[in-house]
Amino acid sequence: MERFSTDRLYATQADHSDALASFKSEFHFPQHAGQDVIYFCGNSLGLQPKPTAAAFETELGSWRELAVGGYFNGPNPWLYYHQFLSPTLAKIMGAQVQEITAMNALTVNLHLLMLSFYRPSGKRNKILMEAGAFPSDQYAVETLARHHGLQPDEVIIEIAPLDGEKLLRTEDILATISAHADSLAMVLFGGINYYTGQLFDIAAITEAAHQVHAIAAFDLAHVAGNVPMQLHDWQVDFAVWCSYKYLNAGPGAVGGVFVHERHASDANTPRLAGWWGNDEKTRFKMEKGFHPKTDASGWNISTSQVFNMVALKASLEQFERAGMDRLRNKSLQLTAYLEFLLQQLSGLNFEIITPKDASSRGAQLSLYFPEQGKAIHQKMIDSGIIVDYREPGVIRVAPAPLYCSFTDVHRFYEILKEHF
Ligand SMILES: *Cc1c(COP(=O)(O)O)cnc(C)c1O
Repeated sequence: MERFSTDRLYATQADHSDALASFKSEFHFPQHAGQDVIYFCGNSLGLQPKPTAAAFETELGSWRELAVGGYFNGPNPWLYYHQFLSPTLAKIMGAQVQEITAMNALTVNLHLLMLSFYRPSGKRNKILMEAGAFPSDQYAVETLARHHGLQPDEVIIEIAPLDGEKLLRTEDILATISAHADSLAMVLFGGINYYTGQLFDIAAITEAAHQVHAIAAFDLAHVAGNVPMQLHDWQVDFAVWCSYKYLNAGPGAVGGVFVHERHASDANTPRLAGWWGNDEKTRFKMEKGFHPKTDASGWNISTSQVFNMVALKASLEQFERAGMDRLRNKSLQLTAYLEFLLQQLSGLNFEIITPKDASSRGAQLSLYFPEQGKAIHQKMIDSGIIVDYREPGVIRVAPAPLYCSFTDVHRFYEILKEHF
C-alpha cells in the first residue's frame, strides 16, 4: 500500500489535516507575479514572521521612552534580554536552560568556544572534522591551529566519504576516532552537512570522542529549528548555531551556544571574558577580577545586542507554540512526500544525495542533476519557487514545516514533470 499519491488532491487533503498549516499565514513571502513565492530556502535564510516588526517596535519604544531606563524597565528589560531566549532554545536543543546562551554570531562563537575547549597538549593535539565542512568552519579550525603555533595539515584530520560515495558512514567516523585515540583532542562536526543534507549521529560521535578523552563539539547551523536535539543527555561538550536559517531570525541574527553544565558550572573552565559574562552581583562594582557566571552565559562578553535578538525572540514564540516535536513530525512527512514524488519522475536523470533514512536527514533534500541542474533551477525561479543551486548541478530543496505546505511540494514536482 502506498503512503502517498501523485494526485494533487492528496496534497490538498494533507494540508487540510495539517495541525500546523495556519503558521504559513504568519509569514511574509516575497512576491512573484503578484503571488506569494513557494520558499524552499529556509536552510539559507528563513522567512520573516509577521510578528517580528511589532517586536522591533516594542524595543524602539523602550529606547525612545525610557532610554537608559530600558535596561531595567519596559516590557523586556534589556539587562536580561538574552535570557528571554534561553527557555525555548533549551527545548529546541534538548538542553537545560542554564546550558544555553545567545550571543555574537556563529563563527565568532565557534572560535570562542574552541579557544575554551581545544587545549592541545603534547601529542594530543588533533582535530577531527568532516571533509567538505562549511568553509567558515574550515577557516576557523585552520586559523585556530596556527594560533596555537601548530601546522593545520599536521593536526587537522578530515574524514571523507569512501571512493564513489557522497555520504559519511557512521562506523567510519567512529573507527577514525578510535584510530586516533592517543592524539585526538577534539572532534568538531557539523550536525547536518549543508551540501549533502546528511544528519550525523551526534550521540554516537560524542560517545566515541569521550571514550578517547576528546572534546565533542558540533556546529548545528542546519539543525537548529530543524531537527530536535538532546544535547544535554548526549553529553555534548559544546555546540554553536546560527538563528537565520530554520530559526527565522533574519540576516546576521544573534547566534546560539550550548555549553554542557559540567563545564558551564565550573568557573575555572578557561575562556576569553568580558563584563556581560561576569556575575551580575559584582558586574557593576567595576572591580578587578573576573567572576564568571556559572552557566553558559559565563561566555557572554559584551552588552547584549538587543536589536540583534529581537527577531529571534519573536520567532521563538512561534516555535514555542508549534512545538519542536510537532514540527519534526510534519517535516518528516513533507520531506518523505517530496522524496516520493521525485521517485516517480522516471524520465529525469538525477540523484537524491541526501540519505534515504529519515533519521539521517532534516528537512532538506539535495538533488544532483548531472545535466540540467542550472536550467531546472532557472525554471523554478521563473515559476516563483525559491530553491538554491550549488555547483556542480546540486539543487537544495528544504521544505520548512512552519511555512511550507504539501501543495508547495507538489507544485515543485509538477514543474519538474511538465518541463523536464
Ligand atoms: C551557515 C553556516 C555558517 C555561517 O556562519 P556565520 O558565522 O553565521 O556567518 C557556518 N557554518 C555552517 C556549518 C553553516 O551552515
